[in-house]
Amino acid sequence: MKSSGRYYECEECKFVYKDRRTAKECENYCKKYHSCNMEITKLAVKL
Ligand SMILES: [Zn+2]
Repeated sequence: MKSSGRYYECEECKFVYKDRRTAKECENYCKKYHSCNMEITKLAVKL
């Protein structure tokens, strides 16, 4: 997981989140299933 300023990026799908926990959750899911969880990506920040 990468942090750019105030945001945290999922290294797998490149979605960006405001909180670290959600980004980590996304990354775990992405790594495990090689696809995104809509329940998580809907929380992503649009930059
Ligand atoms: Zn992801």
